[in-house]
Amino acid sequence: MSDKEKHFETIVVHAGVKPDPSTGAIMTPIFATSTYVQVSPGKHLGYDYSRTHNPTRTALETSLAALEGGKYALALSSGCTGTDILMHLLEVGDHVVSVDDVYGGTSRLFRTIWARHGVETTFADLTHKSLSDFATTKTKMVWIETPTNPLLKIIDIEKVVAEAKKLPQKPIVVVDNTFASPYFQSPLELGADVVLHSTTKYINGHSDVVGGALMTHDKGLLDRLHHVQNSIGGIPGPFDAFLVLRGIKTLALRMQRHGENAFELAQWLEKHPAVEKVLYPGLESHPQHTTAKKQMKGFGGMITFFIKGNLDNARKFLESVKVFALAESLGGVESLVDHPAIMTHASIPVETRKALGISDNLIRLSVGIEAIVDLKEDLDNALKRSQ
Ligand SMILES: *Cc1c(COP(=O)(O)O)cnc(C)c1O
Repeated sequence: MSDKEKHFETIVVHAGVKPDPSTGAIMTPIFATSTYVQVSPGKHLGYDYSRTHNPTRTALETSLAALEGGKYALALSSGCTGTDILMHLLEVGDHVVSVDDVYGGTSRLFRTIWARHGVETTFADLTHKSLSDFATTKTKMVWIETPTNPLLKIIDIEKVVAEAKKLPQKPIVVVDNTFASPYFQSPLELGADVVLHSTTKYINGHSDVVGGALMTHDKGLLDRLHHVQNSIGGIPGPFDAFLVLRGIKTLALRMQRHGENAFELAQWLEKHPAVEKVLYPGLESHPQHTTAKKQMKGFGGMITFFIKGNLDNARKFLESVKVFALAESLGGVESLVDHPAIMTHASIPVETRKALGISDNLIRLSVGIEAIVDLKEDLDNALKRSQ
């Protein structure tokens, strides 16, 4: 049975993982080695140096490719490494169109590093405008993140892919699928050329690794991406590769619970007297709920809401939570709460942040897999104290 015919719950447990041929060990060993013995110059078993390939990483890459229904994957030292590797495909004078509410680190890389190296990025609201409103003849990459961070906007992947295909230069369409995870959304099936993940988040899921991944169906593109990675580095060590592989085994179970808990909390928050507004793609009140239903199998574990009042009220809430931990990042088994304006999105210029709607009363939740009653009680207590 090929990976394509198997169910996601089976793929996460088995893809890439084979008993070790020399010992029968059921778990992939951590191959802590930089080099490999050759029987004759250039004659080896597929491994010559660990920047290029490493067996623990190969197992992880096979698993990662299967998660996205892709043929190929590269495991990386972080999600930002993936963004940087993709940008290395471009030439001076090339142009990128990116979703406006993009991950803060992605925006920072585009604005403060790649702009200096001659690649300009236009940040665009692709929820209701079309790609052709922003693309030039030099547009070689289209950067989609959906749901976005922290406003959870939904971009219609198929629509943007179709618009990109109409451009004569055929820009590469990238989807950052970190927020949805491969459990809820499959951008390669919707026509994207490459999927990016910060495996730091849901894919590893245990808040103990920083890592990234790129997945694609296109062997030519994979070879170009691997050439960049092999040239600049940006590889995960074998121990990190092992941890991510281990995290993936429970991805389906975790995502199911993240999704259920978040859906219930979002509905409950929407009725809470201390809450002004809730953004969650699964709610009918979400402006792109129809698109979310079309392209996602569920709505994920992230909720954004606006607390009634101002920064003081937000602060009181954030200092009062006990089960939720006040911390950056997301996608781990434990529930986290974040204040984007001061924490995760501080690197975005303040005017841009304000224009996007990342206000001082905006709070982002990464809903964990704990008991829903405990999460509700914790939020309820902190919300009451906030007012
Ligand atoms: C965290 C994150 C990244 C960056 O990944 P790192 O592993 O922190 O480098 C990129 N995109 C999104 C949506 C993220 O949440």
